[in-house]
Amino acid sequence: MKAMRLEATGQLFTREVKKPEAGTDELLVRVEACGVCGTDRHLFHGEFPCTTPVTLGHEFSGIIEQVGNAVSGFNVGDRVTGDPNIACGRCSHCVNGRVNLCRNLTAIGIHRDGGFADYVVIPHKQAFLLPADLDPMHGAFCEPLACCLHGIDLAGMKAGSSVVVLGGGVIGLLTVQLARLAGATTVILVTRQASRRSLAEELGATASVDPNAGDVIAQIAGEHGLIPGGVDVVLECAGVAETVVQATKLVRPGGTAVILGVMAQGEKVEIEPFDLLFREVKLVTSFLNPFTHRRAADLIASGRIEVEKLISRKVSLDEAPEVVRQPPQPGEVKVLVVPGL
Ligand code: NAP
Ligand code: ZN
Repeated sequence: MKAMRLEATGQLFTREVKKPEAGTDELLVRVEACGVCGTDRHLFHGEFPCTTPVTLGHEFSGIIEQVGNAVSGFNVGDRVTGDPNIACGRCSHCVNGRVNLCRNLTAIGIHRDGGFADYVVIPHKQAFLLPADLDPMHGAFCEPLACCLHGIDLAGMKAGSSVVVLGGGVIGLLTVQLARLAGATTVILVTRQASRRSLAEELGATASVDPNAGDVIAQIAGEHGLIPGGVDVVLECAGVAETVVQATKLVRPGGTAVILGVMAQGEKVEIEPFDLLFREVKLVTSFLNPFTHRRAADLIASGRIEVEKLISRKVSLDEAPEVVRQPPQPGEVKVLVVPGL
């Protein structure tokens, strides 16, 4: 079969490898689609630790082709999405229910072979069923959606809440939709590219803001802004210093700012604890997808999350290394690798 292998930092090739087999508690899945994520580019550039050589790809779904002897609840032909993050279940964080903080956390597509391949083998406890009639491309969105769901859960949003989402990549555009589903009446997306601002409004944002058109704080929380005084919830989905700082200032007194974006290790931002204290701002971070993958799969299955419009292009396994080597193209939201294309 074909697989896109990261042999070492900067060395990414699609080549023929031996088709794997499911172990006793595993499933062999024929990959239908696997999303390219910013993390894949970080792994390629050596900016994020991984085990090489490895087949990349952690946003995949597909059809079960072989079921391990000790597995129940899954059958050949079932469509599944894989939660790539494998917690040990035994460490002090796991036993406290904090599986995303597992001391022994490993991930499919980072520490063991992933979904940029014709087939992937996954532990059955990482698999979640999807409907047979789902568009085969849509299952690839379960993993990013599960991460956004954790952020939404941490936001403590209520029906009628006002929300700002900073950053209009796939994470921001999924978060906009989740905020609406969670009951927010006002959802403002801030992102630089005009095509993404209009897409966000199509997907349920009530307004969008161009950070290059003027001070973002003034445009939103200023006296003559969209929501004078700030919003109940800010979800930071850009991962840059500027938006992290903005998140703390756009939130109203007593509100919550959730940081989902990943800044480079060692990078710093300036915040003012005095201001946060006297406005009792809750500043929280959201990491991965603890216990949210099932709900993400159900949301994708329900069709309540629009993902079709987030697919910018579909590429073959042969074309995939070039996509990961290059930075994202302007306007692009999600590139899917489709084996057999
Ligand atoms: P992405 O495509 O890079 O999206 C981030 C977008 O933010 C950029 O494309 C950019 O769009 C926008 N942006 C950049 N600077 C901005 C600014 N100053 N003001 C407003 N918007 C700005 O990445 P993604 O896949 O959506 O992921 C978003 C972030 O979440 C990344 O940092 C990623 O690593 C992180 N992430 C975290 C988790 C988690 O578990 N916490 C999971 C997945 C991803 P424009 O060009 O339109 O401005
Ligand atoms: Zn653990």
